[in-house]
Amino acid sequence: MNAPQGAWRLTLSYMLAAALWVLFSDGLLIALGLSLAQLERAQLLKGLGFVLLSAGLLHVVLRAHSRQHTLAHQALQRNEKRLRQAAAVFDATQEGVLVTDAQQHVVHCNPAFSRITGYSQAEILGQSPSMLKSGRHDKSFYDSLWHALHTRGAWSGEVWNRRKGGEIYPQWQCIRVIHDELGEISHYVAVFSDISALKRSQRELDYLAHHDPLSNLPNRLLFTERVERALERAKIDEQGGAVLLIDLDHFKHINESLGHNIGDLLLKDVGERLSQQLGKRMTLARLGGDEFGLLDERCSSAEQAAVMAQRLQACLTRAFNINQQELFVTASIGISFYPVEASDVGQVLRNADSALFKAKNSGRESYAFYSQELTEHAHQRVELASALRHALDHQELRVYYQPLICLRSQEMIGVEALVRWQHPQRGLVAPGEFIPIAEETGLIGAIDAWVLEQSCRQMVAWQIAGHRLRFVAVNVSSRLFSRGELDLRVAEVLRDTGLDPLHLELEVTESAVMENPDASLALLERLRALGIRLAIDDFGTGYSSLARLKRLPVHKLKLDQSFVSGLPHDQDDVAITRAVIALGHSMGLKVLAEGIEQLEQVELLQQLGCDHAQGYYFGRPQPAEQLATHLALSAATTD
Ligand code: C2E
Ligand code: MG
Ligand code: MG
Repeated sequence: MNAPQGAWRLTLSYMLAAALWVLFSDGLLIALGLSLAQLERAQLLKGLGFVLLSAGLLHVVLRAHSRQHTLAHQALQRNEKRLRQAAAVFDATQEGVLVTDAQQHVVHCNPAFSRITGYSQAEILGQSPSMLKSGRHDKSFYDSLWHALHTRGAWSGEVWNRRKGGEIYPQWQCIRVIHDELGEISHYVAVFSDISALKRSQRELDYLAHHDPLSNLPNRLLFTERVERALERAKIDEQGGAVLLIDLDHFKHINESLGHNIGDLLLKDVGERLSQQLGKRMTLARLGGDEFGLLDERCSSAEQAAVMAQRLQACLTRAFNINQQELFVTASIGISFYPVEASDVGQVLRNADSALFKAKNSGRESYAFYSQELTEHAHQRVELASALRHALDHQELRVYYQPLICLRSQEMIGVEALVRWQHPQRGLVAPGEFIPIAEETGLIGAIDAWVLEQSCRQMVAWQIAGHRLRFVAVNVSSRLFSRGELDLRVAEVLRDTGLDPLHLELEVTESAVMENPDASLALLERLRALGIRLAIDDFGTGYSSLARLKRLPVHKLKLDQSFVSGLPHDQDDVAITRAVIALGHSMGLKVLAEGIEQLEQVELLQQLGCDHAQGYYFGRPQPAEQLATHLALSAATTD
């Protein structure tokens, strides 16, 4: 029962009792049979009693009312005090507070809100909190927030918002729904704190836990994590990598003789130099002491790893200048591959460690693989690479020329230039043995440029001597081809040698063209614009797409010798040869068959309508002087 109802009941009860008293009390006195004098006194007493009772009742009511009033007053005072305290907390708290009405219009915010967001109260009042959004969260984020508010009445979590100045920052936010007496939503209250500093310090802590303070490189923990992740990735994309452990030789002596301070400075500089050698998907770490680790996620061959190891060793050979002292260090390197040699991180590192041990034992400043064969193989390749470099500088390379024949007239129409290496001990080395190494080490650029220039000069010499050769064909490595500036180089050589572009043909392998068809198309067009001829070499081995092939501005397809060798008996080879000739002709291209060794092959190819031929049957690759007699002979027979 509420207070006004109680008051009414009490008043009515009193009126009823008073009315009954007025109506029946006199009758009751008369019924008692009192004398008149007694009756008069009794009535006086009754009146006094009524007044007394009323006054007593009034007193009780007034007292109860006044107690209630006092209690209400006290409660009000207490409330006011609490509100003042709440307001002080609201104003003083470090957390931002934002209150909106049910329609999400801001009705209140505290000073911390303004401090964090940059918006003053005047700017935000009446606005929607969505003006604080950073755009970092998608619709599903806000959907789940509202779902939580409607089902549980509260939500808390991390939100990225935007300050007035545009900066995006993270905040931890609690939102509560406030209901009125009727249970309807009246307000939303959001309390949040700016956690960007916390995040920053978390990041800093994380950085400290994962990096070596001296070199700022990743430490062993991070390195191990990266190797672990690389192993997982290797399982998915079936492409492994290598781990190289790099240990400085005799570093102990530097520490002992020059002190740890110098040692530390040297280690820092070594870390910096090694870092400069890093490429994509590589992690360099300082694993402790004078040991560094390199994870190369793209390294899949022993040759690549060996080249990397040498690069790392070479970058350390220059003197280190520490406190005005010149110091020299060398490093030994152990290499292990994953996942072929090991499928867990512990094993990968143990393998690299035992390879490092091997490297240290075979004399310092060397590198070794976990697997013995790889070590030997790589060393041979490295020796070959340095010998090849020497060969280039000491004119040990030779260009041989192989006749190219017109099948209809049997006339020699051109020659293909093929490089050889006149090795002082090993004799004549075929390009198959050294071109791949030249490609890995980057020497191929110099070799191809040299062959191109020699061939152009030779062609000019033959022309001056009166030989009727139409063109010289020169091979271009896929490495050079993919670099793109080949046309400039070719133009330069043509200018220098004075060869008419009409007499030069470049051979590009089908696989080189198809590796990057769009870039190839552009380059081939630029080459063709120079006026030279273009041939697709080793055709049939490079999975050309016919659609792409159709667009290439080339003159000739050279059918790979693997299809010619089966002729004329292997029916599959016959079918392929027939198809390639038809395909070439349908696109207006000449077709040359490579590797012809027998008369039967010549006859079949003539029957199939093949245009040109090349092979031992017509003539082996030979030095220019030898070919000159060949040329003189063919000129004599055709004249
Ligand atoms: P290629 O351009 O397809 O050259 C044809 C190869 O087939 C040559 O091998 C040639 O000697 C060989 N050949 C020719 N007729 C016959 C035959 O009747 N029977 C057999 N079995 N083989 C025959 P070579 O000279 O050993 O060259 C191999 C490859 O090395 C060449 O294949 C070419 O891709 C590459 N190459 C040669 N010289 C250079 C060069 O200066 N630069 C570049 N980048 N690559 C070159
Ligand atoms: Mg060729
Ligand atoms: Mg070929």
